[in-house]
Amino acid sequence: MIDYFTRLLGIQGFVVDAVTQVKHGLFSCVILDIKRVQQKFVCECGHISCEGIKYRERKIQHLSFWQHRCYLRFMQFRIQCPRCGLKVEALPFIHRYSRVSVMLGNLVYELCKVMTNKSVGIFQGLDDGTIKAIDKDKLLEKQANRSLDGITALGVDEIFVGGKNCLHMVSALDGPRGPELIYIGKGRKEKNLKKFWKWFGPKRTKLITIAVMDMWKGFINSFRTNCPGIVILYDKFHVITHLLDALNKVRQHELRCLSKRLKGLLTGKKFILLSRLAHVRGNARVALNELLCASPRLRKAHLLKESFSHLWSYKSKTCAKRFWRLWKDSLKWARLESYERFVRMVDKHLDGILAYCDHKLPLGFVESTNLKAKNIIRRAYGYRDDEYMKLKIIQACSSLRFFQPWTVAFNNSE
Ligand SMILES: [Zn+2]
Repeated sequence: MIDYFTRLLGIQGFVVDAVTQVKHGLFSCVILDIKRVQQKFVCECGHISCEGIKYRERKIQHLSFWQHRCYLRFMQFRIQCPRCGLKVEALPFIHRYSRVSVMLGNLVYELCKVMTNKSVGIFQGLDDGTIKAIDKDKLLEKQANRSLDGITALGVDEIFVGGKNCLHMVSALDGPRGPELIYIGKGRKEKNLKKFWKWFGPKRTKLITIAVMDMWKGFINSFRTNCPGIVILYDKFHVITHLLDALNKVRQHELRCLSKRLKGLLTGKKFILLSRLAHVRGNARVALNELLCASPRLRKAHLLKESFSHLWSYKSKTCAKRFWRLWKDSLKWARLESYERFVRMVDKHLDGILAYCDHKLPLGFVESTNLKAKNIIRRAYGYRDDEYMKLKIIQACSSLRFFQPWTVAFNNSE
């Protein structure tokens, strides 16, 4: 019978010596006493010794066993290593300071991808602090061992966390595993990005040929200095945000000038006015039509807003330039000051916007990363540990996010 337990447990070099069941509150716990087959002790550095000094009895939690919580109890030894001196032995199924087995740690890490830390804690009978420590450790390890080879296009964006706190997020847009978020750092000034370049390494930096960003000086300068000759492509969504701002200015202006009856039509319509026409349906569409009929200036501004995103559908720069000229021309007698300001800004950055004709990169990814990051922070009601928050966002926006619960036992069973 005990033989079976040894085989089921599957920890090499150890056999199950005894099995005890104890009641612990509501739970039934099974304690497996395990002992080593050979007098063989391994130091952290890899040195193997045949002599050990009894150190302490340890009890660590392992993967749940049927309806029972399971614990492993064993004697841990210290060894006299010729290289490191007196050291606590290293065991393959336990991290040095952790109170859970490596396999349970792996499971907790997997569960934290899809559940809140609190639920994982309740599920596995561990406190929040332990869950976080396990998850963070594992994330640090994964992030450090990530492959960053074969990247030629980067995307950078900022995100505001809790008011003024600003972070920059760098994504690889053409990595071997598809677009992925690879790095998050504090601030959005040129000097803040220095850490990223150091982390990314000069060898990989040389391979970068194109970058997607918004029209923010800090990012532009940093990329231009670190990758000379880089093509900079301005993000579609940021350009459109500027256009929506301009449209909103027109709305505010109209709200000030219009008669009382029309004001009633205009109030509370900001959202449907700024949404894409195809997404406005039913009653909202009726209200929008009424509104646009009442104000010709607003109708013009709305029409121009709708047609603008066409600019990204061209494959040839000449055609795109012609479209842009026509778009500007139709603005001539409209007296929309905020739009004229927008035109000046686009003209200044036109090369970077039209670069999209030659380089079709997944622009949506940078934007969706931003949304996902905000969701992660909201789900956790804000993080107190910045480092952990960054890691969690990186995890959610990269190939590290895939839930693979059945790999837990096999990751470390040598
Ligand atoms: Zn050693």
